[in-house]
Amino acid sequence: MIKKFIRKILGVSNKSDLDIANRKPTVLGPKEHGIDPQLVSANAIRITQTLQENGFKAFVVGGAVRDLLTGVKPKDFDIATNATPEQVKRLFRRAFIIGKRFQIVHVMFGQDLLEVTTFRGAATDGAPKDEHGRVLRDNTFGEQHEDAARRDFTVNAMYYDPSTQTVLDYHGGIKDVRKKTLRIIGVPEARYREDPVRMLRVVRFAAKLQFTIDAATRAPIAVMAPLINNVPAARVFDEMLKLLTSGHALACLQQLRKEGLHHGLMPLLDVVLEQPLGEKFVTLALANTDERVLQGKPVSPGFLFASLLWHQVVEKWEAYKAAGEFPIPALHLAADDVLNTQTDALAIQRKIGTDMRDIWAMQPRFDKRIGKTPYKLLEHPRLRAGYDFLLLRCASGEIDAEIGEWWTDFINGDGAEREQLINSKPKPSAADASIKKRRAPRRRGPRKPKAEEA
Ligand code: ATP
Ligand code: MG
Repeated sequence: MIKKFIRKILGVSNKSDLDIANRKPTVLGPKEHGIDPQLVSANAIRITQTLQENGFKAFVVGGAVRDLLTGVKPKDFDIATNATPEQVKRLFRRAFIIGKRFQIVHVMFGQDLLEVTTFRGAATDGAPKDEHGRVLRDNTFGEQHEDAARRDFTVNAMYYDPSTQTVLDYHGGIKDVRKKTLRIIGVPEARYREDPVRMLRVVRFAAKLQFTIDAATRAPIAVMAPLINNVPAARVFDEMLKLLTSGHALACLQQLRKEGLHHGLMPLLDVVLEQPLGEKFVTLALANTDERVLQGKPVSPGFLFASLLWHQVVEKWEAYKAAGEFPIPALHLAADDVLNTQTDALAIQRKIGTDMRDIWAMQPRFDKRIGKTPYKLLEHPRLRAGYDFLLLRCASGEIDAEIGEWWTDFINGDGAEREQLINSKPKPSAADASIKKRRAPRRRGPRKPKAEEA
């Protein structure tokens, strides 16, 4: 009893029993797993075949196997092998070893990129960790069963060999796929402590696959969520981007809120979602993004983050105007504030930050619908994104729908139609004021110094 308690505290289960039990996988033939070989990428087959012909083990692994088992065409294929990165690299013409924390090989065929990973070893006990127990480095290679135990969820720990069409299942993944259950491998608390990003992953998979989270896998999340704050921002950002571009962003965000995970991710996101206009805007933006992903259209991270943070910008914009700032500089100051906070918290890359600023800065320019100004805006390289953003603002009720309609006509119109639109005086309510809320009195006053000038 006491031993069991101590094991639980330390986050170890009956480790030796577990090792022995999972050394031998369940092997499933084509009739049992039912994978359609047509859905397997020809390049993945090329890689596993080449490795096998050279005496190595090689399998399709992870999300691709999970998706194949549910009849979904995987979006990318990862390969696991017992060949070292150097050995893999030698077998392919365009192969590059990448990564510091754990080396993997990128093998390219034309535009197609596949990740080849060497089986990881079991030992995380001796690996360097931060003060919260997060594993910092682990560069040990190992056996296949050890690799399986290191993966996050049972449904992500299966290996498919295209040459024999067999699936190796070490942790009951096939049962969980059938039951549509996400179950973490090992002791949940320990696995989240090693890598808190797994809490975000479980949410993403639950929303994307429409699987339920097993009770024991789910229970510690509410308590352990703050550990995400210790993860390097760039990693959280990558995972957030995956989540937002999964085609199920809206469902993911709702799930994040349900699990209490949205706090550390985007400061104030909670507040934003609780403002009626902010929530409507974010909901519309994400529904729009999901639609694009499902149609196979590209989504721009800049547009996404510009949408998520817009109502923070609006709030600050209003505040700067109320403090006597002119509308355009006020908007730039608001954008600076929001980007500065979020760049630290989320490691928003410079390029994405620039795109966000462009989209925001374009918004007041849509108000000016006289003279040559609208024509100038037509030449803006980011017009499409700015215009799509404008339509979201209309749809969310932030600004008059009329302004969006006017721009739709203007963009699609020919020369004469455009002239006519310019000459038809826009309704005064929408001509000047984009924000419906109370406007600040326009008075000249000393501009607040920017942070870096102060
Ligand atoms: P997707 O379809 O979204 O790409 P995926 O399962 O392939 O889902 P990846 O992030 O591509 O997710 O990871 C590939 C595999 O690597 C996973 O299936 C899992 O086995 C393993 N993996 C990835 N991240 C972790 C992690 N943080 N901890 C443990 N295993 C992980
Ligand atoms: Mg993947």
